[in-house]
Amino acid sequence: MIILVLNSGSSSIKYKLFDISKDPEKLLNKGLVERIGLKIPSHKQALEDILNKVGSKIDAVGHRVVHGGDRFSKSVLIDDDVIRAIEDFTELAPLHNPPSLLTISESRKIISGIPHVAVFDTAFYYDMPECAYFYAIPYRFYEKYKIRKYGFHGTSHRYVSEQASGILKKPLNKLKLITCHLGNGCSITAVKNGKAIDTSMGFTPLEGLVMGTRSGDLDPAIIPYIMEKENIDVNAVMETLNKKSGLLGVSELSNDMRELMKEKGKNKKVKLALDIFIYRIKKYIGAYTGVMSGCDAVIFTGGIGENNPDIVKEICKGVISKDTKTLMIPTDEELMIACDTYRITVNSQKK
Ligand code: ADP
Repeated sequence: MIILVLNSGSSSIKYKLFDISKDPEKLLNKGLVERIGLKIPSHKQALEDILNKVGSKIDAVGHRVVHGGDRFSKSVLIDDDVIRAIEDFTELAPLHNPPSLLTISESRKIISGIPHVAVFDTAFYYDMPECAYFYAIPYRFYEKYKIRKYGFHGTSHRYVSEQASGILKKPLNKLKLITCHLGNGCSITAVKNGKAIDTSMGFTPLEGLVMGTRSGDLDPAIIPYIMEKENIDVNAVMETLNKKSGLLGVSELSNDMRELMKEKGKNKKVKLALDIFIYRIKKYIGAYTGVMSGCDAVIFTGGIGENNPDIVKEICKGVISKDTKTLMIPTDEELMIACDTYRITVNSQKK
């Protein structure tokens, strides 16, 4: 079965084409169409370009959707009702859900008559215990505005958990894992018996670990304080916390780990940025080991986690026990999306 996976941003669409009937699955083609709105007039045109490039018969399409809100606990076959629900969650993911919706509606027209499946970043976290996803703010904010921890990067955390189970030769439902996705965005998840029980990203991807340009955890009282001192509005503070903080903000040099590693021996602010980055991850590993009463393996993925054994060693030093394994596993969110799409397509054909 040939499956096209589409991962849409506001000005780009990433794609991968897999043959899933092969064992192991075979990647047939991949690419990125950029500058939609500038060089390429629309998502519709970008899709037509992708179809020309892949030039193959497609049996099903898998779409990455960032926010499945409080409705989707797993990947689903897309119909009009699913589209309406994703539209409803646009308010929670104003930057991410609209381009996915555009791509879904255009591709259902252009590549019609085959199953289209939505795979949500948030779905892995749907079943977390209430005590992990509730914020201690008035309950009505949850009822009225759906404010809770949603978690993101779920497809990546789920993929590397499954890979780890294969490597460790132990079923997922017998494992306590901590998965660290360290890329430009960073998040960490406690996976107990195959289920995510806590994660660092929250209502938005801003919470949790120190990231390339995001601050991660901080005292919310800092926000009005900065607004007053710098005489800026809330949007400007949020822009600072999302785009000018994290490794970039503290180092005043770069959000790119490779750049920072080169400078760390010479530059105090770079060293501090790396120290905060590592310390925050250690704290979460300690906390998640505690709430799971142990941890069989800590898994590292994402650009930093897959490529930087020095950072991984530094993070693990003194925080994990001798019995805990450390694994560096390349993530493949698109393959996970293709596998979900395959499973759902096969099941829908049985009905
Ligand atoms: P994104 O979250 O945008 O998908 P990536 O997962 O590609 O990003 O991660 C980007 C980060 O990974 C950058 O900080 C980059 O410096 C780091 N990185 C990529 N390759 C290496 C490497 N070989 N060694 C150290 N860090 C790396």
